[in-house]
Amino acid sequence: MRADNAPVIRLEDYQPTDYLIDTVSLAIGLHPTETRVTATLALRPNPAGHAGASLALDGDELVFVSAALDGSPLAADAYTASPEKFVLHRPPQQPFTLTIETCVNPTANTKLMGLYRSNGTYCTQCEADGFRRITYFLDRPDVLSVYTTRIEADTDTPLLLGNGNPAEAGALAEGRHFAVWHDPFPKPSYLFAIVGGDLDHVEDVFTTASGRKVKVAVYVERGKRERARYALDALQRAMRWDEEVFGREYDLDVFNIVAVSAFNMGAMENKGLNIFNDKYVLASADTATDSDYANIEAVIAHEYFHNWTGNRITCRDWFQLCLKEGLTVFRDQEFSSDARSRPVKRIADVRVLRSAQFPEDAGPLAHPVRPRAYKEINNFYTATVYEKGAELIRVLKTLVGGQHFRRGMDLYFERHDGTAATIEEFIACFAEASGRDLSAFSQWYEQAGTPRLSARGRYDAGAKTYTLTLAQTTLPTPDQPEKRPMVIPVALGLIGESGRELPLTTADGATDGGVLVLDGAERTVIFTDVVERPVPSLLRGFSAPAILDLDLTDDDLLVLFAHDTDAFNQWQAAQTVATRIIVRAVDALHAGGTVQVPVGLAQALGHFLDARALRDPAFAAQVLSLPGEADIAREIGENIDPEAIFTARKAVRETLGQALAGKLAHLYGELAIDAPYSPDAAQAGKRALRNGVLGLLTAGDAARGEALARAQFDAATNMTDRLGALSVLSLVAGEAREAALQAFYDRYRDDPLVLDKWFALQASIPEAGTLERVKRLLSHPAFSLSNPNRTRALIGSFAMANLTQFARADGAGFAFVADVILQLDPANPQVASRLSTAFRTWKTLEPGRRAHAEAALRRIAAATPLSQDVADIVTRSLA
Ligand SMILES: [Zn+2]
Repeated sequence: MRADNAPVIRLEDYQPTDYLIDTVSLAIGLHPTETRVTATLALRPNPAGHAGASLALDGDELVFVSAALDGSPLAADAYTASPEKFVLHRPPQQPFTLTIETCVNPTANTKLMGLYRSNGTYCTQCEADGFRRITYFLDRPDVLSVYTTRIEADTDTPLLLGNGNPAEAGALAEGRHFAVWHDPFPKPSYLFAIVGGDLDHVEDVFTTASGRKVKVAVYVERGKRERARYALDALQRAMRWDEEVFGREYDLDVFNIVAVSAFNMGAMENKGLNIFNDKYVLASADTATDSDYANIEAVIAHEYFHNWTGNRITCRDWFQLCLKEGLTVFRDQEFSSDARSRPVKRIADVRVLRSAQFPEDAGPLAHPVRPRAYKEINNFYTATVYEKGAELIRVLKTLVGGQHFRRGMDLYFERHDGTAATIEEFIACFAEASGRDLSAFSQWYEQAGTPRLSARGRYDAGAKTYTLTLAQTTLPTPDQPEKRPMVIPVALGLIGESGRELPLTTADGATDGGVLVLDGAERTVIFTDVVERPVPSLLRGFSAPAILDLDLTDDDLLVLFAHDTDAFNQWQAAQTVATRIIVRAVDALHAGGTVQVPVGLAQALGHFLDARALRDPAFAAQVLSLPGEADIAREIGENIDPEAIFTARKAVRETLGQALAGKLAHLYGELAIDAPYSPDAAQAGKRALRNGVLGLLTAGDAARGEALARAQFDAATNMTDRLGALSVLSLVAGEAREAALQAFYDRYRDDPLVLDKWFALQASIPEAGTLERVKRLLSHPAFSLSNPNRTRALIGSFAMANLTQFARADGAGFAFVADVILQLDPANPQVASRLSTAFRTWKTLEPGRRAHAEAALRRIAAATPLSQDVADIVTRSLA
């Protein structure tokens, strides 16, 4: 179907279903090409629906076999069945059972939605609408049913897993066997899952706060068992944390995680049976970086936390997706903050928000955290729903305070457990718990676009007052030309030029608790008893998802960098200064001049490294990591020339690397670790800084850096050091680079997940030969477009992480990615559609590149056939 023909689904059209399905009994006979599914549904008319309506069940590419009503075969005129629909024309108006038999082909399922095979393992993915590819159903999140699943398979598929608790298992004739799973908790169809395979596992017993024993296990492909231990440990830490911080206990007798190699997304929170992209499960010192370990910990926790925020309380409709995703991302961010360094985690999360969500919010794909209309729901699993959705929970917590926030969460769990809820119902719990009117706050869910917050300050030395005026605007976004002011909690402080934190005194107590709430277009506040000229530290901890325009000089910012007591703003101050310097360098290059780097920044970084590098290396690594090209592009905003940005940024790094050469070389030695590898935050911080130091050192002195990188590569005892060195080497064209790439390949040739790093690194090299290199790698034996991880590693990295080459002046980068999208689309529209969002900032490019991007998008849009997924993205991108 083409998107222009696809119906628009609107929030205001929501209607309850005409029928309810109380129980679902499934019998699934696994077979590689002809899997038989018999679904017995216990239905009854919904008192809230239309009496006497026909019953229309969703399907998608299903082969209908037979249907029976209350045990008797249905007459031919009683129903119609097509691959997309099963309609029972005149359903009984009292409870009845409908039994439908269908047939599906898991081996031919390249879309990886519904039941498919990953390296021989049967697995499922049902969110958002994959269950209808297994059997006909009311496939929407507000239909909650109790499931019993009987799985039958040949004995060469010994492991049979389902949702809930194991109920029964045994042998059958003819080399077959079966297992029955029963899930007592009513759930929507998108949380259904089964797995069938021959897998290895690690397991443990987790004792809940109330003393119940839960068998927890992680299943992986044979030979990878040892690499699953970290995930199993992370799971148990997450289970404990949710008890301690949110009072949430696990509710089944077992919790299983299965890692598969072919998966469209990161992971899926199916009740009691999470299915994971193996990238977010498998880890060892030799194959995973510190970041991989941190991501595994976060994703394992995220999916586990869904058990309450998503599963026990689910979403009424897909417009409420942020109800489970934004909230659960917030919860996993908090978990990681408690497990590691809170400020460093905050900085990392804000980097993700700015690089993934801000461009979305500023471009043609902008949409509110709770959209009001969609054509293809799979395209709304976005950074806006997830990352900005999490920021809104943080804003809410700041507005009502920590205690009221926890009380509101308790109320939400108590009131809505076992139901499909809405954002309004969620917010009402916090309004009730805090006694506050939160109607203005709820605008955050409705209005797209990132608010721009401007701050202007004036110090009156004679009166010892400081007058601060905050104002906000939000630019128009598609379908929302007019914007209203948002409720923005601005956490703030005043830092004196002498470096000390000044007290916040106002006549009306406007900034009690260090937070000033801006809820109109503008607000002015006067601080009294300000004994010295202050530098305001605003939006501390990034207290709201806004873009901050400051009237501070570089020197003011360097005061914050040196003295701010808020670590986030300390980091931010250095980033802002560096951004300004690079933007000025871009302007200078455009005007035919040369790049100037003021000595102030180099000096300030030097002092900082002396004082903090060894004390807080993880934080220092964030400071040393300069704004990326995409950050600079976002700051410039329009007429972007990626080559100019790249050249300017490189020159600034070169200058800093030279100015700090002595310190960097010394630090590089000091940061070496003697102890055996551990992925813990302390060691990971040291390695992150050491690799950052190596990068900057090499920017300033290529020959010296290259020699160090080469030695680090050869001596590395873990993936973080090895890949860190290889990244540095990859930037220097020549034989050393090619030899290192070859050595890396030889070492890991049988390890697909590690080869993804090898593909991604090569696709990210910012030089003219990279496009040819990527094209060559397409036919590498280890590459396959049918595996989403491989595609994301090679093509995704080229399109999303290599601005100069994707946006080449000759348009060849755009044309290449368009070709791949068109090639991939018939087999896997979801991954193709994700890839096509790489074009989302095309309108900000300079005219030549813009024209090439538009031509590529128009070529995709004109292709037939084209999936609804891709058509939806390119049509909106072109609008
Ligand atoms: Zn999630």
